[in-house]
Amino acid sequence: MMPDPLQQPARIQADMVIRNIGQLVTVAQHPVPGASGPLQVIDKAAVALHDGVIVWLGRDDENEPMFQHDAGNAVGEIATIDAQGMVVTPGLVDSHTHLVFAGDRSEEFHLRRQGVSYGALLAQGRGILTTMQATRGADTQTLTKLATGRLHTMRNHGTTTVEVKTGYGLDKVTEQTCLRIINNLNAMETSPSYEYSRVRVVPTFLGAHSVPPEYRDKRDAYVDLVIEEMLPSFVGLARFCDVFCEREAFSPDESRRILTRAKELGYLLKIHADQLSASGGAKLAAELGATSADHLDFASDADLDDMREAGVVATLLPGCSYTLRDPYPPARRLLERGLLVALATDFNPGTSYCENMQLMLGLAMSAMGMSLEEALTAATINGARALALHEMTGSIEVGKRGELAFWSIADYHEIGYHFGVNLVHSVFIAS
Ligand SMILES: [Zn+2]
Repeated sequence: MMPDPLQQPARIQADMVIRNIGQLVTVAQHPVPGASGPLQVIDKAAVALHDGVIVWLGRDDENEPMFQHDAGNAVGEIATIDAQGMVVTPGLVDSHTHLVFAGDRSEEFHLRRQGVSYGALLAQGRGILTTMQATRGADTQTLTKLATGRLHTMRNHGTTTVEVKTGYGLDKVTEQTCLRIINNLNAMETSPSYEYSRVRVVPTFLGAHSVPPEYRDKRDAYVDLVIEEMLPSFVGLARFCDVFCEREAFSPDESRRILTRAKELGYLLKIHADQLSASGGAKLAAELGATSADHLDFASDADLDDMREAGVVATLLPGCSYTLRDPYPPARRLLERGLLVALATDFNPGTSYCENMQLMLGLAMSAMGMSLEEALTAATINGARALALHEMTGSIEVGKRGELAFWSIADYHEIGYHFGVNLVHSVFIAS
């Protein structure tokens, strides 16, 4: 049958429309009608949502489709948010953090100013182990309060998805406590209003962060404890298993044992790879099909090529270089070799005490030679890939969750250029 030319155009089901967006930076992975440039930017845009899922985006003008909201048999209300001409991007995705810990490591920071290396501090049983002691000694309420405060700071700087690792308990009880706290962070801040809803928190088990002092002379027994007791007990509590594969931490063979068992149990894999030396972590990530390998300062070209072929996301953590006064990760080399590059804070008390993804964007551009397009892609959709959540978040496209950052700037080219201040006005996270 021929379509009836007088028939009303199909209406789109929506319960919310965000209007008056100055620039909508979609970072879409497919061409968007009316959008331009590698980031698929739409000027004077609107976004419509239904049940928290993006159902339409385009120009905020007379050509937009009609929206309707059927609520059972009744006509439901369509809520409207006025973006007041702000720039809107996907919510930032911080795919590598160590958010749950107690204690203070400022002394170490200043010792390093006097020339003591991070590796030397680790070898002296400081560094991670200082935080381990404080974390073991803290109660759940204290750890939760500290973590929640940090999560708020992240959100205030535009982050809507954050991965959080354990790794400061290093015994079964404390690791489990930390995993429960991380999972509970997801349930916090639940609110019927759209504006103040929850940040998505992705839990990672990092029992192999360091060998705890009670196992210093029997490290094999600690690896066995991780493999035989912790990993099976934490199934369902952690989405990822991560290992610190480094001279001062776990060897490639130990890392392989742990990650192989984790994979059998259904965990996705991450590796702290080649941060302080050529540790073999990148190669192992490719071998085991890890979702991401993180740091990569010392990874060889051959290992990077293996990672690319295996589809492992390369996560770069410039906050560490900034803090340790080390050379920055070789972003251009990775991009030129065709790797998918993500950026994250590595928020932790030792080597990157910073919740702010905007600073990582700035460092990526000013210190690592990434373009605005590359950096913003790395901080959004590629961060989502590093968490295997790219079907759900990381870009503004039909079918994805409404997770947006509102920037109080007139043009998105201000990102990275205007630095040292918070340019994010607020985030929107659909519940
Ligand atoms: Zn880390």
